[in-house]
Amino acid sequence: MKTDINPSIAQKLLSLHHEWESSWEGYQQDETLAVSDGVVEHVSEEFAERMKENYPFFHPRYAGQMLKPAHPLATAAYFMAMQINPNNHALDGGPATAKMEIEVVGDIARMFGLKSHLGHLTSSGTIANLEALWISRSLHPSKAIAFSTFAHYTHKRMCEVIKADSVEIPADDSGKMDCTALEQILKTGKVGTVVATVGTTSLGAVDPLDKIIPLCRQYNVRVHADAAYGGFFTLLARLNAPIIDPAPFLHLFECDSIVVDPHKHGLQPYGCGCVVFSDPSVGKFYKHDSPYSYFTSKDLHLGEISLECSRPGAAAAALWFTLKCIPLKSDTGLGAILTKTRQAALAFSKLIASGKAFAEFVKPELDIVTYYPESEPPTASFISKATEKILLEAMHHPVRPLYLALLQINSKQLQRLHGRIEPDRETTSILRSVLMKPEHLAFVPTMVKELEDLSKSGNMERRF
Ligand SMILES: *Cc1c(COP(=O)(O)O)cnc(C)c1O
Repeated sequence: MKTDINPSIAQKLLSLHHEWESSWEGYQQDETLAVSDGVVEHVSEEFAERMKENYPFFHPRYAGQMLKPAHPLATAAYFMAMQINPNNHALDGGPATAKMEIEVVGDIARMFGLKSHLGHLTSSGTIANLEALWISRSLHPSKAIAFSTFAHYTHKRMCEVIKADSVEIPADDSGKMDCTALEQILKTGKVGTVVATVGTTSLGAVDPLDKIIPLCRQYNVRVHADAAYGGFFTLLARLNAPIIDPAPFLHLFECDSIVVDPHKHGLQPYGCGCVVFSDPSVGKFYKHDSPYSYFTSKDLHLGEISLECSRPGAAAAALWFTLKCIPLKSDTGLGAILTKTRQAALAFSKLIASGKAFAEFVKPELDIVTYYPESEPPTASFISKATEKILLEAMHHPVRPLYLALLQINSKQLQRLHGRIEPDRETTSILRSVLMKPEHLAFVPTMVKELEDLSKSGNMERRF
């Protein structure tokens, strides 16, 4: 099923594109661009061979990092748009795809409940966050930017880039920003912006925006939500019986800026982040004078409200096509997909808790699960060793490989959460799986069974 849809849709889109192309007067492709069939064939084979080095990101057996292929419709639309290679920097560079970008960014802003907005796509979540922090610094030039210990590592680095001081707010043991600590820091008057993470990259923990926003308003501080990974779960917060804690998501509309990555949970190929601001007047900070970019329109160009210059119009085309077919709805469209990934995490959590072989590190809030093998003696070093062994044996299993990921956690935190653990080293390696494909739901029982078998096999015979 999966392999059918892509070539047929891609072919259809391509032939529609060729129809358009052939409405133009014919011309000869220059001979310098030609490559002989023999060379292409040879390189293709080598290329396909080299590409096999990848892990099977498409398969439910891959439950490691936050990675999966784009939806075949997105890939097909991207491929078609690439025949034209529009540049969404300016309306002149990509008239059609710039309009699509404006539409999809509007859809995203409305998903969060923003009443007005200014925003655009970016090449990544990192760049989108950089823009939000840059605007924050422009509004509060002498103040610091605060984020929790578990915020994405790029925030600290980007504060260095924009020459803003940064402050780290401690997190509680579940990985969320500690609001008591936040208030202490806000009282000093040094902070101009707080970054709340809506789904941390390590645990999927959601900072309590519902508490952070009133605090920040009280101290006249901006709030930026880094929802790069978790943002689309907003759809699930609007279900009648939400299977996530809806409170933080339902406050996203009160944030000054929000970042979400369509290339994470929005079914898009890499190269697609998004930033939206609730106050369109921040556009004034982007003002620049570029005599050579704009010709045809007096409308606001995307390049006038974006830090980056050239950006692929194909990314906007892919997202536009995807959202037309799989809309940002709660009970159907993307919501139905995320419901399954969330249910996969819940099912995994339940099975792990009912078995004896593993323990959960924290309860999953979205679709990331964290767990570790019960070990005797229960020391941080034994758990780490057993974890690393399972990771390798799972991945190198001769018949049924499973791809998981490692997470380093603070051993004292593990002890605080699980009592019996002896923190004989500073950090403990545990297992982390991102169950971000809807197919993970049906696969979870198999996955847990295989993990339990691996944990029992102790000295599993290596057949390779
Ligand atoms: C992935 C992620 C980022 C970085 O986004 P990229 O698209 O990888 O640059 C930032 N913040 C959070 C919470 C993330 O999960």
